[in-house]
Amino acid sequence: MSEPLLQVENLKKYYPVKGGVLGKTSETVKAVDGVSFSIYYEEGETLGIVGESGCGKSTTGRMLMRLIEPTDGRVVFAGKNLTDLSKHDMRKMRKNMQMIFQDPFASLNPRHTVGKIIEEPLIVHRMGSKKERKKRVEELLEVVGLSAYHAKRYPHQFSGGQRQRIGIARALAVHPRLIIADEPVSALDVSVQSQVLNLLQDLQEQFGSPFYSLLMI
Ligand code: ADP
Ligand code: MG
Repeated sequence: MSEPLLQVENLKKYYPVKGGVLGKTSETVKAVDGVSFSIYYEEGETLGIVGESGCGKSTTGRMLMRLIEPTDGRVVFAGKNLTDLSKHDMRKMRKNMQMIFQDPFASLNPRHTVGKIIEEPLIVHRMGSKKERKKRVEELLEVVGLSAYHAKRYPHQFSGGQRQRIGIARALAVHPRLIIADEPVSALDVSVQSQVLNLLQDLQEQFGSPFYSLLMI
């Protein structure tokens, strides 16, 4: 078997908390306590991590992106130890790993047009000319089942399911190898949950050989 795309070893996040009446006793919350798993790319793997609310799924996802620094453990992505990367190199590495968030109402900037929201990662990673980016945004909107003209609209003009499609388009924009989806449908109506899940899976299979691995948490 080939090398894993993502290898997580004994990942931990402890938070110190002040307890007691005077706030003196110090305890730790073990948000994540020794998580290990691997995801492969060639096989186009989808891995789901299931657990009750508060068990540490979001903290794990954020540590993989290094949006939160781990207390201990190792995250190796495409052979690189992410915990060793400088902030600058980590920012570049995030092109390969994108996140889709639980709440499509909070995760899209309400003051930006949908076009700008989807274009942003392309600008951050300096991909394409202005014209090429515009074309890519329109293409992405169609890929996720929306329309090119939606680029001019604002997030509040869309339903929850449509907003999550916008979040998926934004994640796909930079051609990531891994998408981390943190409860991507739990904030949606039951009737649209399966549509969004099917979209994530269809997109993964669409190009013959898989073009991203998916971590569902
Ligand atoms: P999940 O996503 O599985 O619902 P989380 O990763 O959000 O779980 O949280 C795991 C645990 O860590 C929870 O008990 C939560 O209260 C705690 N936790 C998360 N963030 C912090 C923080 N910044 N400080 C202290 N405790 C935290
Ligand atoms: Mg969570």
